[in-house]
Amino acid sequence: MEKAVRIQPDLQFVKDLQEVGGEALKRCYQCATCSVVCPISPAENPYPRKEMVWAQWGLKDRLVNDIDIWLCHNCGTCSDMCPRGAKPGDLLSALRNMAYRNLVEPVAIGKWMSSSSYLPILAGIPALLYLFIWIIRASQLGSFFPLFTWDEHAHAFVTDPNGVVVYGGLFPGDFTIDPIFGLVALLVAFVFFRGVVKLFKSFETLPKTFVVAGAPKPTWIEAVKGVILDEVATHVKWKKCGYSTAADEQKFKGHFILFYGFIALAIVTSIVAVSHWGGKVVSFIAPLGHTPMELWNPVKVLANVGALMLLYGLTQLTKRRLNQDPTKQGSSFYDWYLLGVIWFIALTGIFAELLRLANVPVLAYPIYYFHLICVFMLFAYLPWSKLGHLVYRTAALVYARRLGRVAVEPKEIKIFKL
Ligand code: SF4
Ligand code: SF4
Repeated sequence: MEKAVRIQPDLQFVKDLQEVGGEALKRCYQCATCSVVCPISPAENPYPRKEMVWAQWGLKDRLVNDIDIWLCHNCGTCSDMCPRGAKPGDLLSALRNMAYRNLVEPVAIGKWMSSSSYLPILAGIPALLYLFIWIIRASQLGSFFPLFTWDEHAHAFVTDPNGVVVYGGLFPGDFTIDPIFGLVALLVAFVFFRGVVKLFKSFETLPKTFVVAGAPKPTWIEAVKGVILDEVATHVKWKKCGYSTAADEQKFKGHFILFYGFIALAIVTSIVAVSHWGGKVVSFIAPLGHTPMELWNPVKVLANVGALMLLYGLTQLTKRRLNQDPTKQGSSFYDWYLLGVIWFIALTGIFAELLRLANVPVLAYPIYYFHLICVFMLFAYLPWSKLGHLVYRTAALVYARRLGRVAVEPKEIKIFKL
């Protein structure tokens, strides 16, 4: 006779889960429709039905170590087809959100991102930091809204009442922007490293029955290559997963264009940083990323294309969130926080450029100041935000490939409306 297993439910975990998007989980009556219709769930131990049971029973240990929550692409097909409106897709999404928030210390940052009450803290930290810099610099220059011209002899911008708006004159990159964001980048990289190590450790406890034997075990390099080609760079799997309705198309296009918009802006930032700092050693690369740039400069063109891509992607994702059926899928403040911050980055970035070109310092500098606050809010809190999926999800998918726990080839799901 098999030994009885004692189940220890964590009721607080169930409540937490319901708060961050899994509020409908109690409605599930275990029909398994969701696992059948999921276009990419493996045939053995499929998701998301088993996660619905574990969540109802409060089996926190199983859920926090469950690699399957990372295989889901949140297409929503299972939620659309669930006869009870239990929103299984939202449950997996809520589990991932909990993972982003709780994987590494200080977990308070993730909590702050989940409620509008804490927004003043998240925005207040960079707001005070850059206000302090603004005040110090303004006292040196004798104006809160200075204008500048380039001094050939001094090789620097100098204040001139007939000059132009130069953001680097008020917030010098060498002393304010670069050291702050350089430090932020190092801290974020360290936090992500710790998070990925912790994530991999949690997967070590996976029951063997979850591991599906199949093709020969890929090497780490093959697994990374597979994830980059199938999941990250091309979004091929995601496109096949639930890509059947206008909302699916909106989500796919929005995510895809937004992703490449960020890549374009990351390339621009890298060119500016490398040419600026590298130019101090190899002088001929210094002019490549010199700011402010002419509009026709290829680097500037790429920056503007990247900003337009952000706007397009954001519009698609926002429209999709606003139009989604609340009985099938929900949105939490945590979801909106990320979209909101990226919207502010794109808009303040575009207006900062337009106001600089129009040479209106009293508006240009405050808008640039808000832009810095938003950029800080995106990058400094990255490991605890939903955008942390860039690292955690990619790492989990690589691990899953190593295990042989890969999604089956997407099934052809035909949905007939009666
Ligand atoms: S979540 Fe819905 S579809 Fe899935 S098992 Fe429960 S009731 Fe059935
Ligand atoms: S991939 Fe789509 S259908 Fe499958 S569990 Fe996730 S949301 Fe549901």
